[in-house]
Amino acid sequence: MSTMTLQEPARRFEELLGHGAVITDPVRLRTYECDGLTHHRVMPGIVVLPESAEQIAAVVRVCNEYGLPFVARGAGTGLSGGALPRADGVLIVTSKMRRILSVDAANRRAVVEPGVTNLAITEAVRDLGYYYAPDPSSQQVCTIGGNVAENSGGAHCLKYGFTVNHVLALEIVTPDGDIVELSDGDPGYDLLGAFIGSEGTLGIATKVTVRLTRAPETVTTLLAAFKDIEQGGQAVSAVIGGGIVPAAIEMMDALAIEAAEAAVACAYPEGAGAVLIVELDGPAEEVAHQFGEVTRICEESGAFELRIADDPAERAAIWRGRKSAFAAVGRISPAYIVQDGVVPRTTLPEVLASIDRLSREHGIRVANVFHAGDGNLHPLVLFDDAEPGAGERAEIVSGKILDLCIEHGGSITGEHGVGVDKSRYMSRMFSDEDLDTMQLVRCAFDPRALSNPGKIFPTPRLCGEVPGVRKGVHPLVESGQAEHF
Ligand SMILES: Cc1cc2nc3c(=O)[nH]c(=O)nc-3n(C[C@H](O)[C@H](O)[C@H](O)COP(=O)(O)OP(=O)(O)OC[C@H]3O[C@@H](n4cnc5c(N)ncnc54)[C@H](O)[C@@H]3O)c2cc1C
Repeated sequence: MSTMTLQEPARRFEELLGHGAVITDPVRLRTYECDGLTHHRVMPGIVVLPESAEQIAAVVRVCNEYGLPFVARGAGTGLSGGALPRADGVLIVTSKMRRILSVDAANRRAVVEPGVTNLAITEAVRDLGYYYAPDPSSQQVCTIGGNVAENSGGAHCLKYGFTVNHVLALEIVTPDGDIVELSDGDPGYDLLGAFIGSEGTLGIATKVTVRLTRAPETVTTLLAAFKDIEQGGQAVSAVIGGGIVPAAIEMMDALAIEAAEAAVACAYPEGAGAVLIVELDGPAEEVAHQFGEVTRICEESGAFELRIADDPAERAAIWRGRKSAFAAVGRISPAYIVQDGVVPRTTLPEVLASIDRLSREHGIRVANVFHAGDGNLHPLVLFDDAEPGAGERAEIVSGKILDLCIEHGGSITGEHGVGVDKSRYMSRMFSDEDLDTMQLVRCAFDPRALSNPGKIFPTPRLCGEVPGVRKGVHPLVESGQAEHF
């Protein structure tokens, strides 16, 4: 749809939402042209800033009337281009929907609007002795709506589970503009589970009921410094193999430590080739026992320095370097790609050695930061964008790291989603039949493919072209109105 023809829907949106909630001015639209994947940019056709589910539903219905694609956006911190807008469509931004609607401590749940930040939930319930467990490093900024769409994780998801384990119910606006509720108590298909992690392709979450987790009696955080990543990897395997599930177990290599030092002066032990952060929580007695075990394992694996934090200030000091790691690499490299892949934990040393080999072969530095306990790697592929060909070489290394993940029985994404960035890798992991089956789910929710089209799937297809969606199943498919996604 041309810009000219967007004028009419824009007028309709102004009638529904008010003049101030509709953006068509190119200068203001530019703010929304990318998410955290900054090398993909598209100026949205129209941006709307709704304040309620009813307004979102009304916007979506107008989109259906004009056949306009729409994309939901929370804080735009996504790292796979999931919130990349469409030039011929509407970006629905949830930044005005930031209310915590209710807190029910007795039943350990809170109901929040989709634009509420992850950390704001914890801040709202901390005094009651609770917190919201999934903790992406971006938690000060990213929204719960984005977390739901990406099934986001964080350092503490090893023990407590990902977003999908902490969302009890959702109110959503379906791709045709109805408001419906999905709950974990619903009999029949687990539609709540299908929606979480669907990257905005099955509709827009407008209300989120989250599980609140009781704050643990004791938390102890330990930082262990090793001469190299292999020793750290051995310690991780021995801890988990020994039956201990820490709240978090995170590793950074020498280059990631160098970046963190440059950015936040985290003062990690000098000469460390790798640091391991292990956090234990639970009843005091259990934590004390596990702490003894973890200390012993780290020492036996070669740790040359151990630091222990028992209070929040010391704990924050240990975490500062890890939490800042992604942004920190900007201090040691003009440009970088944040990769996200998963390997079975036991293959970590082998995969890290292969990444190192790739890095040397292509002359591209790679800093490694990862959720070691669940094998979720976050290689940061560094390059100088002023150097001809460096960006291309970095892309090659980045893609080969995903190949390594697949070869070792892992996945092309642990928590950042597929979005636009990784759709091209989907067919390395899944057969055409697998992808067609996934598209059947998409077609059931969104036969016109208006909700965040162009994401996840490598091959755009009409719903009518997906084997298994028979002509006549849906009137829109039959009449040829279903569009590409
Ligand atoms: C420095 C940094 C650190 C990060 N650390 C982590 C980490 O530790 N763990 C992790 O998992 N991720 C991490 N991320 C990635 C990112 O923060 C998460 O994916 C987050 O959930 C995105 O939330 P958002 O509000 O920014 O969503 P956006 O980027 O705005 O959108 C992400 C996706 O969600 C969809 N969406 C947004 N709102 C809704 C809604 N209401 N309904 C339906 N779909 C919606 C969008 O269409 C898009 O597909 C990090 C990012 C950065 C920049």
